[in-house]
Amino acid sequence: MYTCVKTMKIEMNLLPHEKLKQKPQDVLKIPFGTVFTDHMFSMHYSGNSWHEARIHPYAPLELSPAALCLHYGQGIFEGMKAYRRDGRVLLFRPEKNIERFNISAARMVMPAVEIDFVLDALKELLRVERNWVPDAPGSSLYIRPTMIGIQAKLGVKPSEEYLFFIILSPVGPYFKEGFSPVNIYVSTEHVRAVRGGVGAAKTIGNYAASLFAGTEASKVGYSQVLWLDALELKYIEEVGTMNLFVRFDDELATPPLTGSILAGITRDSVLTITKDMGMNVKERSISIDEVIEGLDSGKVIEMFGCGTAAIIAPVGSLWYKGKPYAVSNGKTGELTQHLFDELTGIQSGEREDRYGWIVDID
Ligand SMILES: *Cc1c(COP(=O)(O)O)cnc(C)c1O
Repeated sequence: MYTCVKTMKIEMNLLPHEKLKQKPQDVLKIPFGTVFTDHMFSMHYSGNSWHEARIHPYAPLELSPAALCLHYGQGIFEGMKAYRRDGRVLLFRPEKNIERFNISAARMVMPAVEIDFVLDALKELLRVERNWVPDAPGSSLYIRPTMIGIQAKLGVKPSEEYLFFIILSPVGPYFKEGFSPVNIYVSTEHVRAVRGGVGAAKTIGNYAASLFAGTEASKVGYSQVLWLDALELKYIEEVGTMNLFVRFDDELATPPLTGSILAGITRDSVLTITKDMGMNVKERSISIDEVIEGLDSGKVIEMFGCGTAAIIAPVGSLWYKGKPYAVSNGKTGELTQHLFDELTGIQSGEREDRYGWIVDID
């Protein structure tokens, strides 16, 4: 199911200047993911190949009500960001997102995309929309590549036709009032994903499956859910759309990639940076009991989530079995702050790109 489309031409259908949308006055005021740019990229898959690559005005999709994705969830996506720095537009490890997109595609029996071609198409779209990349500190242009099965058929089978598209949305920093700790609710009744399931794929149904526990969390005033492993409800997995790190004295630990959690690119970047700092870093199973005992004894010094949306999110409190537990006295830990500054500094082009993670679109 792999088709080389490197030579495919991208058809350009751009709006005349007077038809362009008014750009938001203040990107910091827009709720996440509610404003979209003027154009989008799309291509179609049928007859075992990709074709009709186009950059065209952002518009509703025309889909059959019998489209397979609507009934059986054959849909995957990615989340990445473009940053503006002195007129340049920068991407952070974009090939990693497209590689992961293909991993998700394989798990959902969907066709792969050509990594170089999609990266070129994304750069082309960003060149068209470069005036949409905000430059306020902490803001960025959020990028959402998506693929859905669109064949009209009610049989439970992989679709033979797909739509791939990329849409763009200007976003402010995740933390509007500065960097502030999040409170997370440990779900002891519902689970997100089970080993052997689709937890390691960025597939649409995983997020629908997470909504119910999110409403339980909000009843006690918590916004994010920490998932435990689905088999024993014993080991911590991840939080919402973030991977999780726990600092025990001089050890920094994060759950291993055993198939039920998403292999975050921010997670990988944190592992690289902290190993380079000479820290004792471990990918290992961490039981919720070890975390709670560590919070009681003071062995757990800090905890943070990491993902493209928030970059690094300090954990201020855990709600477990009806009781709140403060983490780092509800403040941002020293390592958490350092990693936030380092990653956002590299992404925005302010700090040295020691690992070759930055891609300039020009
Ligand atoms: C996207 C996502 C992450 C974070 O991945 P990044 O590549 O760091 O953005 C973590 N967990 C889940 C469930 C996700 O969907």
